[in-house]
Amino acid sequence: MSRWSTASIRVRLTGWYTVVLFLMMVVYATATFLAVRHEFLEQLDAQLCDDFETAEGFLAPAADGRIVWSGDRHHDPDNDEERGNDVWSASGEPIYRSNASAALPPAAIAAATATPRYESVVTNGRRWRTLTRTSLVGGRAVVLRVSRSEDRVRAQLWEILVVLVLGLPLVVALASLGGYTLARRALTPIDHLGAAARRITAERLHERLSVPNQHDEIGRLAGVINETFARLESSFDQLRRFTADASHELRTPLAVIRGIGEMGLKETRTPAEYKESLGSMLEEVDRLTTLVDTLLRLSHGDAGTVRLSPESVDLGQLARDVVSSLGILAEERHQRVRVDAAETVSITADRLVLREAITNVVDNAIKYGPRGSAIDIRVYAEGDRAIVAVADEGPGIAGEHRERIFDRFFRVDEARSRDGGGTGLGLAIARWAIEANGGQISVENRPSGGSCFRIALPVRSPAVTEHHEDSTQRKGGYV
Ligand code: ADP
Repeated sequence: MSRWSTASIRVRLTGWYTVVLFLMMVVYATATFLAVRHEFLEQLDAQLCDDFETAEGFLAPAADGRIVWSGDRHHDPDNDEERGNDVWSASGEPIYRSNASAALPPAAIAAATATPRYESVVTNGRRWRTLTRTSLVGGRAVVLRVSRSEDRVRAQLWEILVVLVLGLPLVVALASLGGYTLARRALTPIDHLGAAARRITAERLHERLSVPNQHDEIGRLAGVINETFARLESSFDQLRRFTADASHELRTPLAVIRGIGEMGLKETRTPAEYKESLGSMLEEVDRLTTLVDTLLRLSHGDAGTVRLSPESVDLGQLARDVVSSLGILAEERHQRVRVDAAETVSITADRLVLREAITNVVDNAIKYGPRGSAIDIRVYAEGDRAIVAVADEGPGIAGEHRERIFDRFFRVDEARSRDGGGTGLGLAIARWAIEANGGQISVENRPSGGSCFRIALPVRSPAVTEHHEDSTQRKGGYV
């Protein structure tokens, strides 16, 4: 990497600023110089024009018919070296030649006309500007040439050039210094921000960057970093809670297994008692296995590594399948499960994933509905959404718990859920499964008591983009 690309922003900013400023100043100085030069030379030509008129006034015919120059009486010691007047007759004979312009070559008499002709002439290393024109004096044509030395103008232009050439690097250097100071002042808060952000470690995620002015660029950047910290903190909290909850859930069946094992070893028992102990242990192992499987599936869902296999699914038929597989549970509790799917509602979704979601919701309705109650499942289309509504006659869900029941390990009544074999993960899995298929799940209490879970899915195929593991592994894991 070049030194330039590794230099700090303030150095690069100042560098670019200096280069651009220098180029702009060069263009500006050149344009200024050319404009001044043009103006000076125009002024010189205008002065020559005045000189010409004055010189014409010094020419007059004498009594003998000759043209006489009377201008020598008007001496101007300051300017005599700088100005010249020359007069020739139409045939080219000199009538008058001033000292200052004596060294200048004679004017081209044949080329002289009534139209003024301006020329620049270099003689003995000096530049002269001349104006030549014919003029009528007493009815006779003469060629009059007025000239002025360009020395004074050139000297003034040279002074301006020196000021521009010497002043330009000075101005650019001062401006660069100012630019560097400004860039440093503007960028220092970013350094402070970086240092403050570096101090916020995983243990101090509750800390935030101070935002002196939230409307400027630095303030907005600090705001974005603070939002990121807030999200990180909440993810860390979730992770901590999840790890604590998961460890707790895993510890309970392990403690039971250990307890049964220790009891069995304490004293000799009959084969039937051992068999019963082993059976209880296996029940707990099953519970552990289910828990670990569910956690694994959720973590795959989180990682976005689950590849869905969308296919056309008849939602009414799917609901009936779920009910027939859970029917035995409802029968045990003398509950009546009714599926109302008058119209055929087909959607594109992953059948197995969707089936698990509906199973978990219906299973809860059976689990939390009282014995002998009714569970109503309605499948219908509503605009471009397909709805599966599962209504029960259970205790309903208090407002403050309505969002949280979809969180992992959240249970309204922990003991009751555990007794019913619940892991606290059923609705978390259901929400993931529905959202992965582009839908939403929500719950509300029925006016007549009980709760109604509403699953809304897009009728059109969602852009199912999750990726992941080998689908055979997944299929084996689903209900
Ligand atoms: P669990 O394994 O405990 O059933 P879920 O994630 O399926 O876990 O449900 C979370 C909690 O939501 C349950 O513990 C229960 O308190 C509450 N819940 C779920 N479904 C219902 C329902 N149909 N009626 C009343 N409460 C429910």
